[in-house]
Amino acid sequence: MKIIAIGRNYAAHAKELNNPVPEKPVIFLKPDTALLKDNKAFYIPDFSSDIHYELEVVLKICKEGKHISEKFAPKYYEEVGLGIDFTARDIQAEHKSKGLPWELAKAFDHSAAVSNFIPKAELQDLYSSNFKLQINGETRQDGNTRNMLFSFEQIIAFVSKYITLKKGDLIFTGTPEGVGQVKAGDKLEAWLEDQQLLSFDIK
Ligand code: MG
Repeated sequence: MKIIAIGRNYAAHAKELNNPVPEKPVIFLKPDTALLKDNKAFYIPDFSSDIHYELEVVLKICKEGKHISEKFAPKYYEEVGLGIDFTARDIQAEHKSKGLPWELAKAFDHSAAVSNFIPKAELQDLYSSNFKLQINGETRQDGNTRNMLFSFEQIIAFVSKYITLKKGDLIFTGTPEGVGQVKAGDKLEAWLEDQQLLSFDIK
């Protein structure tokens, strides 16, 4: 399986990192070794001194497809969850300034924490769903899927023009504003609407 992630998909987040609002989706990949599941602890790697959390809604692809139209994109994911796109912001800033790829900042081991997945039909309105992150009981990110620049369907249509989507692939759909650093000892908890899907420690 592969993990596809969308950057700068919420205007307020693009702005907080002084990035332009993109005209096309910005995408990058994480390998399967990036997965961190079952609310296992995240260990801060020694190569970065500025690991950031980015809470995102994650789609789980349920069948193979290429050149998927927006109209049929809803048939390609039945379950959604939450994930943290852990980012070595110091490495990313250096690579961005040199025009280099982001993999070392984004694709390292356990950089893709994911929750259990729930049927999208359980949500009253997937396209207007709240999701929020608390750290040590304090709300840090409070987003809503209605503020996405590119919808789930637009993302699937765009990505599948270039890369075949396969059953089990995950798509991280971008983070709202409020990103920041994690520290050893932090507890991260996240909710999609009223369902708590993430609860794990930083070590
Ligand atoms: Mg992200």
